Amino acid sequence: MIGSLPVGGGAPVAVQTMTKTETANVPATIEQIGTVAEAGADIVRVAVPREQDAEALKTIVAQAPIPVIADIHFNHTLALKAIEAGAHCVRLNPGNIGGAEKVAEVIELAKARNTPLRVGVNSGSLPKHLRQLEYDNPVEALVTAAIETVTLMERLDFDNFKVSMKSTSVPNTIASNRQLAEKIPYPLHLGVTEAGTKWSGSLKSAVGLGTLLADGIGDTIRISLSTFHAEEEVKVAWEILKALKLRERGPVLIACPTCGRLQFDMDTVVAEVERRLEAYEDPIEVSVLGCAVNGIGEARHADFGITGAKDMGMIYSKGEPLKKVPTAQLVDELFKEIDRYYAAGRNVQRDEVEAAEARRWLAENEDATAMTPERIAALEAAAAENDEAAAQVLRSMHEPASEPQPLETVPASSPVAGRRFSRG
Ligand code: SF4
Repeated sequence: MIGSLPVGGGAPVAVQTMTKTETANVPATIEQIGTVAEAGADIVRVAVPREQDAEALKTIVAQAPIPVIADIHFNHTLALKAIEAGAHCVRLNPGNIGGAEKVAEVIELAKARNTPLRVGVNSGSLPKHLRQLEYDNPVEALVTAAIETVTLMERLDFDNFKVSMKSTSVPNTIASNRQLAEKIPYPLHLGVTEAGTKWSGSLKSAVGLGTLLADGIGDTIRISLSTFHAEEEVKVAWEILKALKLRERGPVLIACPTCGRLQFDMDTVVAEVERRLEAYEDPIEVSVLGCAVNGIGEARHADFGITGAKDMGMIYSKGEPLKKVPTAQLVDELFKEIDRYYAAGRNVQRDEVEAAEARRWLAENEDATAMTPERIAALEAAAAENDEAAAQVLRSMHEPASEPQPLETVPASSPVAGRRFSRG
């Protein structure tokens, strides 16, 4: 438990970040903690490099809306002071705190105050006796150092800790944590250290941490980004957890990569939809896709979606059209539909006249020869049934479209119209 938050033992993977402020600047630190908590941080870590930072902890811990971890390096006195100040957890690397006796002193106080520790190793500061091994086999060196730390904790009869192994290398982070997870029963803190800028750091973290989390490894994560905006780290952490369906928080936005079929300014629309979705807490799925037929097929599971064309676009829900609207009003109309859905107690409000008009528009714009997801699925299903049915579906694709069909009847035979639009 870090404060009231469980970490490990099957608890949801906790999101943490670290403040970028000078910790002793209490108002600034408290403000940033508030910001990261609002963004979804479950835990926050603050650097404690000086006496005044340890002193400031008392106020910070009292005022912070989430548990606070004191981050200590090199100085066991500061670790003791942080525990006394009421930090919900203390992070230290036993290898750089000044020897086993000083570690034991910290452990004694941690036990007395029931304060958990995060112990671990960093690839940049492994104990001297592992330097050659680090050179020959960095993964083994990291794991060995971590196991030595765990053994030291156990010798001191202390088990209220989680373990971290930090490396700047993504492959080494993955390999070492996989090995460690097999060897110890304690919760693991995951992170790729000094991952880089918002762009590259997010990707490295997504690959490294995502791989481990997908394996079921990791109990709390921190994304390390070179930014003063700690909330950006939190947002990235959440995107990773949401992508793996490990946790839900707020809407999920699906957006196509665009291609030559695109007929409207999707960059602006996606950015606007993403911005406006931040006001919603419910984990609804919203898709923004560039062309009508693929849009419907590829986002059939989305709670709400928009798909655009040159002058007109369509709003739909669960693959069923709701209405067609001019492209310039797509975003506003989308959010009107979402708000109506919530106002009606999470019920989609469908106007049958508008829905029929949207279906007609969709059908009129269809490319009758396109291999849409609906047709591919229909072909596969038909092939499974019998070859003649499959052949019929194929034939129907090369015949002129007759009357537009409603979407519900699309899968086996309907030529769903209109995903190519002429540029003008
Ligand atoms: S949804 Fe349409 S515009 Fe977007 S990538 Fe797919 S085919 Fe291209």
